[in-house]
Amino acid sequence: MRVCGQLYPFSSSASYEVDALLDNGQIHISYDLNRAVRCSLDSLSLATPIPGVATQATFPSGERFVPHSADFVWPAHTKRKSIAKLERHYVMIFSALLLTPLLICALLFKVVPSTAVWLVDYVPESMVDTMGQQSMYLIEENFLSPSELPPETQNQIHLIWDEALAAVALSKERYQLDIYASEHFGANAFALPHGQIVITDDLIEALQDNPNAIRAVFLHEIGHVEGKHSIRLAAQAFAGTIAISFIFGDMEGILELIIGSGNLIMGAQFSQKMEWEADEFALQRLARLGHSSADFADALKRLKTLSETRKSTSEKDATWLEYLSTHPSLDERIKHAQTYQVN
Ligand SMILES: [Zn+2]
Repeated sequence: MRVCGQLYPFSSSASYEVDALLDNGQIHISYDLNRAVRCSLDSLSLATPIPGVATQATFPSGERFVPHSADFVWPAHTKRKSIAKLERHYVMIFSALLLTPLLICALLFKVVPSTAVWLVDYVPESMVDTMGQQSMYLIEENFLSPSELPPETQNQIHLIWDEALAAVALSKERYQLDIYASEHFGANAFALPHGQIVITDDLIEALQDNPNAIRAVFLHEIGHVEGKHSIRLAAQAFAGTIAISFIFGDMEGILELIIGSGNLIMGAQFSQKMEWEADEFALQRLARLGHSSADFADALKRLKTLSETRKSTSEKDATWLEYLSTHPSLDERIKHAQTYQVN
């Protein structure tokens, strides 16, 4: 086979219009009247093939040969021919443009979360403790102050807590309840990964006439700890960062931006699911203990009313409550709790 192209001799600025002869696994090129170069095709070093660009071959002795036709495929690259075809196919190009972001999305929203769930089982207990204690330290420093409730009320709440723990057979060593006043959180309760549950004065006051509702809230918070939800969030942020760094290589500027917003979106999506999981935990335990699931529905309903009144009275510190009241799933969760049946 003859392939016409340009030959560039080693360490020379000259170039020659030549015909390369490919035969029996060898390549032979005569140039400049009486000079020639020859070697086996296997010993040529070939440039990376790029669609639409002729692939340059370099001889072991340094000469370079560039075929004129971009369509010429070196025998060593014949396997790539099908790929090259795909690379030129418009449908393929558009599908790739469409599929790449879809795959990235799938990676971030499906693979990363499931990796995080898997990763959670391998996080050592000591790390969970450190994470929980550090978060609690920051929250306490910034948003919490000592409870202003009378000691009798606080004792009552601790009694409900002890009963709830005993009823679901969880140890007092692993779980701890703390009561705080908090301007920032308003009527709220939250769980830290190492088993510390915080309930605010405002929430206790809102639910004081219904201890069953308080028990339901405790069970919901315990559900977050048992489901390792905060660890899952942290693991997800971690896996997400790795995935994004992997996809974008060194694009640090864009990277930070995407990591921030990406995790934020994923986090929000994640916590919806977690709320449902924690609800399920609480409702199941309530049913098992012979309590009504309406207790939990009542707690949620009061949180909702509270958030609505508080929103209309104070505009400045309504971020958290706004989240609760605009959260479409709160209504769904109330309905779910009201109609809950153990399967
Ligand atoms: Zn929750």
